[in-house]
Amino acid sequence: MTAVTIPQMPMIPKSLGLNVVAIDIDPDTLDIKSHETIPWSPETKVLVFSHVFGSRVDLTSLHSLCKSRGVLLVSDEAECYSPHSQPLLPCDVTLRSHGLIKNYTAISGATAHINDPRLLLKFRAVHGTWRVSSSSSYRLKILKSSLLIILSNPTVYGLVLKFLSLLSLSHDSLITSLLRGFPGPTFLSRIKQRPCPQIVSSVLRLSLVYTNFESPSKRKINSVYLNSLLPSKSLLGTKVSEHNHWLHPYIPPSKSELVSKGLKYNFDITGGATQLVCIDSECVEAERFMKGVVYLPVSEEMGKEEIGRLAEVCKGKGRKGGYEVGKVFWGAAAVGVTVVWVRWGVLRSLVTSIVVNLWMLIKIGAVLFGGLTYYVGRISRRNYERKGKSKLLKHLKTGAKVTPELRIQEPESPQEENIILTGATGFIGRVMLHTLLQHSTQLNIKNVYVVLRSKKDKVASQRGAELLTSSIYSGLSTSIVTILQGDVSLPNLGLKSRPSTKITKVIHLAASVSFTQPLKDAYACNTRSTLNVVELCKSLEAKLCHFSTAFIHNDAKVYKQDLGKGWDAKAVQKSIETDCHYASKLLKSYPNTYSFSKHLTEKLLSLPGTSPKIPPLIIRPSIVGPSILHPTPNFSGSKGTTVTAGSAYYLSSLGSSVWHLPPNKASVVPVDLLVYYSLNKLFFENAEGTFNACFEKGVEGFEWEGFLEVNSEIGCLGGKDRGRVVLQEEVLCRTFSEEGGNDVEYYHDLYPVFLYNLRLTYLKLTNASKQTLDRFKKVRNFVDLPMLFMPFTKREFEFETDFKYSIEGEMYMVNCARAGSKFVGFNDEYKNVNVTDSRWSDLFWCLTMPVGNFWIRLVGFALVKILRMTTANVTVDVESFSDYARSASPDSKLILCPTHRSLFDFMIVSFITFSLPELKIYNPFIIADNQFSKLPLIGTICKGSGAIFIERGKGSKGVERAVKQVMCQRPVEVFIEGTRSRDRRFLKPKTGFLRAMLEVGGERDYDMLPINISYERTPEQETMASEMNVGQKKGLGIGGLVSWGWNVLSGKVKLGRVHVTAGSVVNMSKKSNLNHVAKQVQQQQMTGVRVSGYHVKALQQSLGIDEEVIKTSLEDLKVPFWEGDCKLKAPQSKNERWTLSLAVAHAVAPHVKSQEWADWLCSSRLPPPRNTSESVDAFVQAWERAFERAEHAVETAIEKLVKVGFEVDGLKVEHVLGYVEDRVGRPIEEEAVKIVLARQKRESRRVAQEQEPNAGEALAKSGAPIPTGQEEAFGAWGFADSKFVLDGKTVTLHSDRYSLGHRRLPKLVDFLEKEMKTKIDLARSVYPLPERVRVTPSRLPPAIKEGLMALFGVECVKTEDVERVRHGTGHCLSDVLKIRTNEVKRAPDVVVYVTSQDTVVELVKFAKSQRLCLIPFGGGTNVTEALQCPSYDVEPRCIVSVDMRRMNKIIWVNKEDGVAKIEAGATGRTIQEELAQMGLTMGHQPDSYEFSTLGGWVATRASGMLKNKYGNIEDIVREVVVVDGSGEIMWQHHKEEDQGKSFGRGSFGMPELKDLVIGSEGNLCIVTSCVVRVRKVPEKTEFSSVVFNDFGAGLGFMRAVQSSGLKPASIRMMDNAQFKLGQVFKGSEGGSGLKKVVQGAALWWKGIETSSMVAVTLKFEGSAIEVDAQQKAVSAATKDWGGLAGGGENGKAGYELTFAIAYLRDFALSFGLLAESFETFVNYSKLNVMVECVKQRVREAHVERGVCGEALVSARVTQLYEDGACVYFYYIMDSSGLKDGNRTFSEIEEIARGTILENGGNLSHHHGVGKHRAKFVKERVGGSVVDVMRGVKKEIDGDNVFGVRNGVFE
Ligand SMILES: Cc1cc2nc3c(=O)[nH]c(=O)nc-3n(C[C@H](O)[C@H](O)[C@H](O)COP(=O)(O)OP(=O)(O)OC[C@H]3O[C@@H](n4cnc5c(N)ncnc54)[C@H](O)[C@@H]3O)c2cc1C
Repeated sequence: MTAVTIPQMPMIPKSLGLNVVAIDIDPDTLDIKSHETIPWSPETKVLVFSHVFGSRVDLTSLHSLCKSRGVLLVSDEAECYSPHSQPLLPCDVTLRSHGLIKNYTAISGATAHINDPRLLLKFRAVHGTWRVSSSSSYRLKILKSSLLIILSNPTVYGLVLKFLSLLSLSHDSLITSLLRGFPGPTFLSRIKQRPCPQIVSSVLRLSLVYTNFESPSKRKINSVYLNSLLPSKSLLGTKVSEHNHWLHPYIPPSKSELVSKGLKYNFDITGGATQLVCIDSECVEAERFMKGVVYLPVSEEMGKEEIGRLAEVCKGKGRKGGYEVGKVFWGAAAVGVTVVWVRWGVLRSLVTSIVVNLWMLIKIGAVLFGGLTYYVGRISRRNYERKGKSKLLKHLKTGAKVTPELRIQEPESPQEENIILTGATGFIGRVMLHTLLQHSTQLNIKNVYVVLRSKKDKVASQRGAELLTSSIYSGLSTSIVTILQGDVSLPNLGLKSRPSTKITKVIHLAASVSFTQPLKDAYACNTRSTLNVVELCKSLEAKLCHFSTAFIHNDAKVYKQDLGKGWDAKAVQKSIETDCHYASKLLKSYPNTYSFSKHLTEKLLSLPGTSPKIPPLIIRPSIVGPSILHPTPNFSGSKGTTVTAGSAYYLSSLGSSVWHLPPNKASVVPVDLLVYYSLNKLFFENAEGTFNACFEKGVEGFEWEGFLEVNSEIGCLGGKDRGRVVLQEEVLCRTFSEEGGNDVEYYHDLYPVFLYNLRLTYLKLTNASKQTLDRFKKVRNFVDLPMLFMPFTKREFEFETDFKYSIEGEMYMVNCARAGSKFVGFNDEYKNVNVTDSRWSDLFWCLTMPVGNFWIRLVGFALVKILRMTTANVTVDVESFSDYARSASPDSKLILCPTHRSLFDFMIVSFITFSLPELKIYNPFIIADNQFSKLPLIGTICKGSGAIFIERGKGSKGVERAVKQVMCQRPVEVFIEGTRSRDRRFLKPKTGFLRAMLEVGGERDYDMLPINISYERTPEQETMASEMNVGQKKGLGIGGLVSWGWNVLSGKVKLGRVHVTAGSVVNMSKKSNLNHVAKQVQQQQMTGVRVSGYHVKALQQSLGIDEEVIKTSLEDLKVPFWEGDCKLKAPQSKNERWTLSLAVAHAVAPHVKSQEWADWLCSSRLPPPRNTSESVDAFVQAWERAFERAEHAVETAIEKLVKVGFEVDGLKVEHVLGYVEDRVGRPIEEEAVKIVLARQKRESRRVAQEQEPNAGEALAKSGAPIPTGQEEAFGAWGFADSKFVLDGKTVTLHSDRYSLGHRRLPKLVDFLEKEMKTKIDLARSVYPLPERVRVTPSRLPPAIKEGLMALFGVECVKTEDVERVRHGTGHCLSDVLKIRTNEVKRAPDVVVYVTSQDTVVELVKFAKSQRLCLIPFGGGTNVTEALQCPSYDVEPRCIVSVDMRRMNKIIWVNKEDGVAKIEAGATGRTIQEELAQMGLTMGHQPDSYEFSTLGGWVATRASGMLKNKYGNIEDIVREVVVVDGSGEIMWQHHKEEDQGKSFGRGSFGMPELKDLVIGSEGNLCIVTSCVVRVRKVPEKTEFSSVVFNDFGAGLGFMRAVQSSGLKPASIRMMDNAQFKLGQVFKGSEGGSGLKKVVQGAALWWKGIETSSMVAVTLKFEGSAIEVDAQQKAVSAATKDWGGLAGGGENGKAGYELTFAIAYLRDFALSFGLLAESFETFVNYSKLNVMVECVKQRVREAHVERGVCGEALVSARVTQLYEDGACVYFYYIMDSSGLKDGNRTFSEIEEIARGTILENGGNLSHHHGVGKHRAKFVKERVGGSVVDVMRGVKKEIDGDNVFGVRNGVFE
């Protein structure tokens, strides 16, 4: 070791037991003086050369010297800090740092470059076993380094120096001690740590960055310049060719003096900054200069002058300057502080006041807002509860009803009628004219003369023309109408000429219905004009029909028809025409001048002088309201009646209406009733006298207060914020006071007008739309109407009348309100109420809605935002809910039954009930799947908003519990289809939950409200379409939701329109037929389905027919069409188009001829209509064509499959779909496969029954069926219906069995090519499956065959080649290759399927007597060539393969003791399934468990993945029952009857039978059954995963978990290559962009590099306590070893990947990629080294043999023990170009096995040896042990009946 280095350096070799010898160095060259001076010894192992003070010494000659002596040369270049790009000096190991020691190395330390590959391998292996330093140490380093970088700034540094000198502290020692950290005693343990991942990654980054650093040339120049100024004697390294001084070494006369002088002159001259020391005082030169050296600060920034000053200081002179920064700084700091201090006062108060005030404002605002919403919310709720059922909703759809029917009765002998009509432009006048025209023929009316005056520049004819062109007269003949210019206020009505025809009747309607008119004006309009009309009638001798008012009396209790005597009319008339004195007095007891003038008129008409000749008819209506039926429903004229106007006022000014109306019955009469009544009186009855045309006691059900409520509801449905309506109703509205009742002026100005103007101003200021302003202005004249109306509303009236009509008051109230809304221009449409309209404040809105708890409000708030962002609008057909409002019974429980097409459905229905309280449906309980409850936060929100979770598959208990919870008043939401329809078809309804409700609910009745939610696009549409491709549903996950949320925010989610509509209520009770009920509900839902252009487009693309045809047929099929949102992205794929097209499946279904397809389209379809249109036929035929095409494509695919050897019975949907070429679209194809397969199976059964009536019998004899071989693939691993398929470059596992099935893997080929550095030729088929199996023919003598058949039955004896070959092979590469290349040299001559222990005994005895060799066959899954037959020269006897798989029963189970006896031929799958039914598990789960058998496990000494919990097979098996070579049953110390005795551990002075049999590989006996340990199915199963930066850290973690004593049932670690493969297996759905970003960020934060990271997957099983404890232990170890948790989903995926890998190997074979796995056990101390060595050695062997590309070798640690672990290797080789790829592969595999053994690994951990590794056994176990075993064999099987010859039994 060179003498100058850091003091701790010698400790390292010393700790390894090496001696340290220091070598002196030359102060000029800083190199070893002469190589001769090196004290070499034979034991010299390493030479450590330190390049000090930034020097870089050439080591070329020293390196060759070391090499020649076998000494390792370590070059410590840490201080050279030269850019990375500089070539390394020649040496074996280089230590380097990247950047200035002071700063960057503080973060990362240094790196070691190991040039020798073998050394590197060993180093890595050792290094890998060290513990990882904690990430907190990294953070500390970051902090320190940041401080140092700040400190490097001269100003700051100057300040620190000054500060330290003020405190009389030595900056030198303080800073030095802080800078470098090589602590004393803990030094060794500290460096024997691996840096935590963050450090590793920062070193990597730094080394890359540092490569780009420019060489600090300026500093070099400065350094050279300084050298020139100083005496050369006092300088070090003057002869070094290359140096990089960052601190200039200099030897002054006095070290301490120069340091303090430096400080004085502001130079940071230090003595120990580098911490270099001379390690041995014997080295004179080094000792000398190290004692006196100081370091002069030379930086890039220094100019020549500065350097000169430094040199002067060194020479003992010195002048101040340069780093006077300290001083300057102090001065500047003082000034700065003063300035800031002075200013800060102002600034501070300003900032403080802003912050404080803002905060205060926020707080006040929050309190006010909170208080306001609380207050409004409470009132809103109170109102909601008080009001009961919504009147509006109830009557939205009802057609108006009047009894008796409205009709004009014909007079017996109708005379010719010519009528004069006044007031025809008024409200009643228009209806009167309409009715006259309508019934003109009936009434024999020849002419109607309408008297009109000129008005606003329009003459009568113009006004008349306008009148007659109004829409109500369209369709009526107006030819009998003549417009007469006139004026009722004038004598003779101002008529220029009278009509030429004889006038028979005059109907006088002209009046002024103003309640504020001065008396004189009212007299003129109402009385004088009537007197003029009377005069005219007199002269024409016509009958007068005069319209008065029912409120003609002053304060009577009952308003009689007879006026009574009362006052003197003539006197009153006189008074009005003069001073009004008398009249005014009388007026006071009348409500207004209108009723007074009408009273006066009537009185005058009864007086002799003023009465008409013909007794007149006087009709007295009460308040005239809009029509019910005629001329149109809700007709209210052009100006609005008083009722309409009031309603309009209230509606348009919901924010400023000011009057409460009292709860009195309204005396209103519909205009059409009035007119019909009057005309019947006039024409039919020819009545004379006075008649009250109104209801006797007002309208039943029509109350003024209720009328206002209906108006508010209309307003809210029209988009008014309910909160605001409530607020203004509460705060602003006044109840009328009797006192102020008539003081119109006072109220008018003070209150309503003021508020009206205020609101108008607000609307103007807030830029309200023109429509709103117009609407508002239109009601200006009505602001005080409610007040003027007060005399008619403040009390209830009673009239004497013969009015016989009756109407439903509530309904009429809704009519009036709707007329009002129409009048004011509101959209009177309740079919499309938009619930996402923008509001003043969504927050206020959601907080003030009447119903809903905190969560519901929160969800409401979030939803309104989300819906606005994602949808064009969400509309509700409020009208469709009116059936429910009418028919639902208050005692029944309401069940909302929405369609289920999206996860949105859950929210949409609740949202609607929340945002439309007018529906009067309380927020429902939602029955949801339990998986929602597991989503963090979402679960809580769902629960809070009323979700009740049921766990599927947990039987009826869960449902019952849920039902009990929902049995309160709140409605419940149930999806009748149970699950979400994934293609919009209506699914078969499910009745389970309904049944449970009926059972729990007793005698209760239920109202089921069908709801349809139509989406243009569902949020899941694309996912569903892609799920169809891969054939599996994605689970719910928070990740998916988060990324969906992100897409919403970024505006990527566009759903178009959403529409909700309800159907008619379906009743359900205990007596109901549930299937019928469910069907009815579904049919109601169907009526609500709507489609848009978007769907039509999809239909057009799917069916290939014209859009117009589709539209017309949809119309004919009664599927409502929507306008839709034109901005939607067109459907992308066929699947997606079908999911859209199937929205109309229910409408098409009844017309489709094929029953199967019709059922599929819609199982609860309606019967087909009798007549259809042409377009419907064309439409349906297009559907049928698609079905036929799909069926045809499927039939062709099945044919193909049958041709290659499949049987129709074994085919699965996925399988067939993989072969379909003519693609129609997944949903249709899938069904086509089912239909065709079912059809073909039916057909083949029928044929079979006809041909072999007794076919079933032979099988019936035995328990299990003979394995047909069809389930299992031949020549490849796994099930026949599961295999990888290539499509372009995308690989897909076609399988329904695995979660990975159907996932597209577009990157797999690229991954292999990249990792193996090869190009895979996807077109070539190197090892295809053989078209025909060829093997040496069976040599079984016919007699023996017959003997076997006689003994075991024909069906149990097989000699077909396929059977023989399969039974002579297992699943190792050589087996599979042999099958594929038809190179199986010898196969068993016959296969016998044994069915019981007795048949085994019989077979063995038969074999013994006939000299046959028996080879037991389990599942044939071994990977050791164990089933390969010995060659004829070794084994001349015929070979019988004994297939055990029909012996697959569980014989008995003793649950109490946890033991079971199981037949040896049972496969893992069977055992697992059957035990699970009893709630038990054996817990043995090798990756082959689907096919391998219990006997096979015993024979091979297998180990399963859950070994940590359940143990290996030897731990699980308690006893074995075997049949030996002479056919004897051996069962140690038990008989079958001993079932009650103990089966467990015993000590018998000898090994137990099972110990001999476990691992015997078919050499000794046949295992017929085993007693095994069984346990209860674990209470809890969880998965987890963790990633680590590298293999060593992962292993450290695994060991930590092992030593915690809390290891999970399974813990496996995949190395980096396997981890990457796992990522590739995530396929195209490998997580959303956001998820990847988050994952990337987490890895970055943890410093985990993807290029080295490894993944550990974990499976926890056991009780909740056990699992929790294990999870805690795992978390602690994760933290300790710098891991990052990867979640349960990844953990699960990791385990599932194992199953796919087995398929992958055989798939890759087709392209010439040979692969195999081999495993071993190794102690921990050797594990890392062994893994590295095997990998390295395989790679080398690969290269040595010239194999194409690179070897892909990866390792996985699978089973853990206290002392070591099981390691699996996977090796893949590209065989292209090789003559004999298989041989090369075997050679390399053997080399790998050798390397394993060399490095301390075992021959095998659990696969065994078979013939594959037989040659290694003897050496591993020792000859004598082998001899003992052979002796045992002789005893058990003396005749070698079991001559399989595995392992040592050659
Ligand atoms: C994809 C895959 C994954 C695997 N994963 C695992 C794993 O996780 N753990 C593991 O331990 N192994 C694993 N293996 C290896 C293999 O599955 C095991 O060795 C298994 O125990 C073999 O059982 P088997 O029933 O298929 O026996 P076979 O392959 O049929 O026979 C194996 C040997 O046992 C003898 N034998 C079979 N049955 C009896 C009997 N009743 N009496 C006497 N001798 C008998 C046979 O003669 C033969 O010598 C895997 C293999 C594959 C292909």
